[in-house]
Amino acid sequence: MDDGGSPCEPFPRDTKKEVVMSDSLVQTALNGGQAGTHPAHSLLVPLHDPAVYYLLVNDAAENMLRESEAGLLVAVDSETAEFLESGSDLPSVAERIWVFGARPEAWQDASNVTGDVASERVGEHDRFFLALSPERSTAFLAVADRRTGFRGGWTSQPTYVREIAKGLLEGAAAAPSELPALSYEAIDKALCYTNHLMTLHAGQFPAEQDDVAVDKHDLMSVLEILKAISAKRRSHDVLFVFVEKIAQVVEMSRCSVVRIWGGENVAHVLASHDNERIRDLRIDLAKYPEVRRAVDTLSRVIIKDVFHDPLTRQFSEDLRNTDIRSVMVIPIVLLDPNVGSLFLRAARGARPFTQREVSFCEIVAEAASNALERAHLFESIQRANERLEFLAITDGLTGLFNHRHFRERLDEEFERARRYNLPLSCMIFDIDDFKQLNDTYGHLVGDQVLQEMAARTMKIIRRSDMAARYGGEEFTIIMPQTGREGAEVQAHRLLEELCRSPYKGLPADVRVTVSMGVAVLEHEAMLDCEALIRVADSALYQAKRNGKNQVVVGTAEGSGE
Ligand code: GH3
Ligand code: MG
Ligand code: MG
Repeated sequence: MDDGGSPCEPFPRDTKKEVVMSDSLVQTALNGGQAGTHPAHSLLVPLHDPAVYYLLVNDAAENMLRESEAGLLVAVDSETAEFLESGSDLPSVAERIWVFGARPEAWQDASNVTGDVASERVGEHDRFFLALSPERSTAFLAVADRRTGFRGGWTSQPTYVREIAKGLLEGAAAAPSELPALSYEAIDKALCYTNHLMTLHAGQFPAEQDDVAVDKHDLMSVLEILKAISAKRRSHDVLFVFVEKIAQVVEMSRCSVVRIWGGENVAHVLASHDNERIRDLRIDLAKYPEVRRAVDTLSRVIIKDVFHDPLTRQFSEDLRNTDIRSVMVIPIVLLDPNVGSLFLRAARGARPFTQREVSFCEIVAEAASNALERAHLFESIQRANERLEFLAITDGLTGLFNHRHFRERLDEEFERARRYNLPLSCMIFDIDDFKQLNDTYGHLVGDQVLQEMAARTMKIIRRSDMAARYGGEEFTIIMPQTGREGAEVQAHRLLEELCRSPYKGLPADVRVTVSMGVAVLEHEAMLDCEALIRVADSALYQAKRNGKNQVVVGTAEGSGE
């Protein structure tokens, strides 16, 4: 600093210069205007104290040095860059740094630093520090003007940060054409980071400062809400805790989260603070014009008095029976378009919501958006995993378990049977002359027979048995707790069921038959489950050799009966 001021001195060196700031990018972002192409919202955590601004920026820089991330991009104005205590080491971690204005002394030799980046949209009083990587997204913005004072804000909302970055780097020399893709794993990290910054921020607020929209107590409440939300994994739990906690802090008679899918005329209430059972209550958007407007404009809507506001006046008769007088609707901005558009809607009858209450809800909504997204992601990953797991163990044609799963289960059952000295049987059966059936009636009919055979098998076997498709036209059944006698009876019952009546798609006089090989665990002679399969297999071949359409129970010595 050439004026010798404290490191937290907020004002630019040359304050005499008249600068037009109305169209500066930072100003626009702070005003909740369009920072880039992203629909605007003013979901920045306010930073009205330059000391807090510099403290947080330094903390963010230090964090980056500690965690040295790949693909880290930083955009910073020269004043802020000068203030970075740990700044001299930043080029060793970041892939690229753009300094808007003169680069600091310490960065003169760094090849990844671009100084003097000209941008018409960056004003002289703009202070900013933006970091973006697949792991991190954070933006600190401020306008440091002696006339208007220090106004700033910070956000870790990935979409917003990226849009601001785009606005800043557009036209900057050698700016990347694509900003790094954000990984979903980063969402957890972003939430921790937001928590961490909130704590720091809250600690910096003098308790008596009352001219700020959100004070220390509010931020502590935000933290508490975030903590409660972070403990939940399922979407509905996250949403419910979210609305429940907000309603505990801000007095209101309704607090809910609604979801709208593009183009729909209905909204879905996903959670409501007064009824935990509400999960997907459909409401007609025509009756909720304030929600409609928030959807259309993607910005917050605040109605101080529903009986007088032109938007809601026409519904005043309906509203008279409720305890609602003031309503606010706040967009919850999420990265993943598959979640739909979420809105926080709050209403109360007593008195209009104050600016401070609105700000509080906005901050909670922004801070919680990562958790909401994470919960949604967790559930969709879980669903996808369940589906993949199902697909991985299922045979596509018959819906029975596949060969791999059969082997795993047989291994388990074999181990259990040996350990506890339990009986165990297994059977393999194969359709007789299936090739000929295919050749005569076609493969599609063959497939149909395989499907029907699987269905008949499932009907006959016991709940404790497990049927699988062993291969082409071969099936297998594991029969836990079943000895020789039981297995034989089961095999004959199944043979009867499979061969008795004609199959769909085949002439009524054509019979499909199968040959079955049964193996029964012999504890002394069979040391692994391959031995059991070998016996079933050779029993099956014995059945084929004996003339097909029959059951053969094998033994370890190799002689089928
Ligand atoms: P065997 O009585 O000795 O078992 O004679 P087979 O004709 O049944 O036995 P083979 O092994 O000669 O032929 C099996 C046939 O099963 C040949 C193959 O095309 C058919 N197959 C295997 N998988 C499928 C399938 O998924 N769909 C259909 N339609 N046919 C299949
Ligand atoms: Mg066959
Ligand atoms: Mg075969």
